[in-house]
Amino acid sequence: MTDTTTNTTTNVMAGTVALVTGAGSGIGRAAALSLAREGATVAALGTTGPDLDEAVAAIRAEGGEAIPIVADISDAAAMDAAMETIGTTWGRLDTVFANAGINGVWAPLDDLTVAEWERTLRVNLTGTFITVQSALPLLRARGGSIIITASVNGTRNFSNTGATAYSVSKAGQLAFAKMIALELAPQKIRVNVICPGAVNTAINEKTTIRNVDRVRIPVDYPLGAHPLLGAPADAEDIAPLVLFLASDAARHISGTEIWIDGAESLLRG
Ligand code: NAD
Repeated sequence: MTDTTTNTTTNVMAGTVALVTGAGSGIGRAAALSLAREGATVAALGTTGPDLDEAVAAIRAEGGEAIPIVADISDAAAMDAAMETIGTTWGRLDTVFANAGINGVWAPLDDLTVAEWERTLRVNLTGTFITVQSALPLLRARGGSIIITASVNGTRNFSNTGATAYSVSKAGQLAFAKMIALELAPQKIRVNVICPGAVNTAINEKTTIRNVDRVRIPVDYPLGAHPLLGAPADAEDIAPLVLFLASDAARHISGTEIWIDGAESLLRG
């Protein structure tokens, strides 16, 4: 960031270490690059090794420092091992961007299997819990910032009929963050939630949508569903908020959600 009064450039995350889950693509990748540009050393975690390698290469190409860590956020042993790697490599952890998630299966209630419901909750909600819990020993040493990616779904929007498991997982993330924000405040660990609207990423290609037309009430938006930009955001539009919440500029902000959706959720509800 440039200080216009003195015309000097400071890296607001210099000397810090950030863990980004789901760093191989989309919002996580953009945030990892953004944190690294501001001087953070980045542990780029996810399940897709080649994507993580590419993200790490992109960070290194810009002069940043990063390592890939292949781990499933819903696997507590794998996440403990990931924290062990971060601890032995850098000896500290300051920022946790708990961002990895899936859309899972979107289907009418009587069409959604228990296994499908459980998988979405397991990755998005239990995976967030495991990510945060496994990071605590490192975070407690100096305090830090946890940022959780929820969504407009489950926090402001309840009209994406069929996306029930997903929305419930996102609502759960918000309650989880508020519960632990108070618990962790004495340890100088801040916890906040970002709630993006539609973002251009590959997540939709990985979504199973089944028979939702059977239950969805048709609604028209003659002027479009994206009031501010007229289109979904790019992942790079989300990264500055992650950077802000990670930085000391947000040192008094904890236990809150921020919608970053170009007013989309106010229109949809
Ligand atoms: P994405 O699919 O590009 O990113 C998700 C990343 O998480 C992928 O790299 C994937 O490999 C990783 N991942 C999935 N399951 C994992 C697991 N079990 N362990 C470790 N990594 C795993 O999509 P995105 O849009 O960048 O999604 C990032 C987050 O943003 C998600 O939590 C998603 O729910 C949320 N979100 C996305 C949108 C949108 O419109 N794209 C809107 C609101 C919220």
